[in-house]
Amino acid sequence: FYEGTAFLYEHRLGQLYGAQEGGTQGHVYGELLDFYMQQRDYHNVVAVCKNHGRVDSNMWLRALLYFVQCPDSDFTAEIQEVLQHIDKDGLMSPLAVVRILAKNKKTKLATIRDYITQCLSKETAMIESDEAAIRSLEADSRTKQEELQTLQCSALIVQTNKCSHCHSALEIPATHFLCRHSFHGRCLGEAEECPLCQPEMRKIMDMRSSLADSRDNHNGFHAHLRDCSDGFATVAEYFGRGLFWGGLTATA
Ligand SMILES: [Zn+2]
Ligand SMILES: [Zn+2]
Repeated sequence: FYEGTAFLYEHRLGQLYGAQEGGTQGHVYGELLDFYMQQRDYHNVVAVCKNHGRVDSNMWLRALLYFVQCPDSDFTAEIQEVLQHIDKDGLMSPLAVVRILAKNKKTKLATIRDYITQCLSKETAMIESDEAAIRSLEADSRTKQEELQTLQCSALIVQTNKCSHCHSALEIPATHFLCRHSFHGRCLGEAEECPLCQPEMRKIMDMRSSLADSRDNHNGFHAHLRDCSDGFATVAEYFGRGLFWGGLTATA
């Protein structure tokens, strides 16, 4: 009678809650687990976890605690099975598992030997893969460093021996820019760009951004063309700004 009732109960629960979301299902199967635990139906404690542990992973942890604390008999087989699932789904750290198992003085080392061995070999594999990753990154970094060294060594040949600011002989510390201007540290001060080239550079940058702004200004182009005396010059100017770049690319 008991088996039939439990089976029907579980089956009915599956039907009732099958369509509902995980939280409710987990709660209900947790109650079923309670039921089997109270009945000391050890086989079904494991079975209900196997069938529904995916919905509520907490069930495996409760089952472990149950078997470890149960004084009835030796649950080596059950504990090993539960540990397999805890390990497979990564439900608990090995240290936490060992702490729980230590609650029962009768737990034999043999019970958890396989579990510990598995955990250790997993950790070893992880460490090995991390070490391989570190080695490959180190090699990568060395290559980049060499590239940087080559760039730094070959990019700039300093031919001037005079400061571009005060025109006296350069001494250390000196800063050399790629534009081939060199400065005493004291003459350069806090500047991060070449002070001689910077105004020209700024002008070019401003011009580029204003040209980019006006590039799409078709209305401006037509108004300008209507009002100007030399239509050809206007078209040429807008060509220069790149107004027609899109059109040219399209027809090319
Ligand atoms: Zn100087
Ligand atoms: Zn310069």
